Amino acid sequence: MKAAPFAYHDPRNVEEVLHLLATLENPRLLAGGQSLMPMLNMRVAFPDHVIDLNRVEGLDGVTERDGALRIGAMTRQRDVEEHPLVRARLPVMAEALSFVGHWQTRNRGTVGGSLCNLDPSAELVAVAAALDAVLEVRGPAGARDLSIHAFPEGFMTPALAPEEMVTAIRFPFWPAGHGHCFAEFARRHGDYAIVSAAALLMVEGGRVTRASLTLGGVAAGPMRLREAEAALLGAVPSEEVLRGAAARCQEIEAMSDPQAPAWYRRRLATTLVRRALETALARAGGAA
Ligand SMILES: Cc1cc2nc3c(=O)[nH]c(=O)nc-3n(C[C@H](O)[C@H](O)[C@H](O)COP(=O)(O)OP(=O)(O)OC[C@H]3O[C@@H](n4cnc5c(N)ncnc54)[C@H](O)[C@@H]3O)c2cc1C
Repeated sequence: MKAAPFAYHDPRNVEEVLHLLATLENPRLLAGGQSLMPMLNMRVAFPDHVIDLNRVEGLDGVTERDGALRIGAMTRQRDVEEHPLVRARLPVMAEALSFVGHWQTRNRGTVGGSLCNLDPSAELVAVAAALDAVLEVRGPAGARDLSIHAFPEGFMTPALAPEEMVTAIRFPFWPAGHGHCFAEFARRHGDYAIVSAAALLMVEGGRVTRASLTLGGVAAGPMRLREAEAALLGAVPSEEVLRGAAARCQEIEAMSDPQAPAWYRRRLATTLVRRALETALARAGGAA
């Protein structure tokens, strides 16, 4: 199929993009096009105007500031995956990106596009929730920060006004020596995961001093497992403790769809969280 007709716009700076968003009828931003182009061609999306972000200056790059990496919305997923700062500070993101589609799609796909597309199974969305990322949003009223936890408004619907855009995302990083793991189950490598799990652990003096556990693919937005995180804090991380934390996934409210029923997602979540915790612990220098 072919896309329905639309007018194409090729702005060069953020101000121009914001003007177009505020004045055009039914516009849509185009980033890497790895989700939007199929949606246009399958006629799932019908914008009257497509605003191309690919020549807009100042929207890409990775910089370190105040304990966070700031990644421009238009930074390509492959560039992020291979970036030395990302590998050093956010190893869980580099690991998660290796599961995102294929290197061909990551060459075009952007970090901002993946977050704004907000697929329930998108690896970057789960990682952003695990790291308590903050999105930098620009609109007619100026700039605002938006927590990733307030970003999903519904199924594949970010909490953005129609005339707003994401310009960058800040990912706070964990101290050196933390353990991390991103694990997922997909039918084929490169497919969206049915369920994914991100685990971050800090172990000091033989006890867990910080924990972050996130599931992707179980609900419209990423799910932080706050009770399991709390149960880990202060514990000596034995195999039994990790299994106990993972077992809390048996109680989550998981979605059902034609791909997998809720009970199967809960079972996958339990196994993936246990595996992710074991690997994170091993990488933190501990042993289950
Ligand atoms: C074969 C294939 C396999 C894939 N497998 C996976 C996978 O396993 N995991 C996964 O997560 N993804 C997967 N994807 C999707 C891919 O990661 C996309 O790159 C991503 O979903 C969208 O990023 P994009 O830059 O291509 O955005 P686009 O497709 O250009 O845009 C996506 C949406 O975000 C909006 N948008 C983009 N940028 C902004 C912005 N700055 N501000 C506000 N709104 C914005 C657009 O208007 C659009 O609605 C796959 C894609 C393909 C083709």
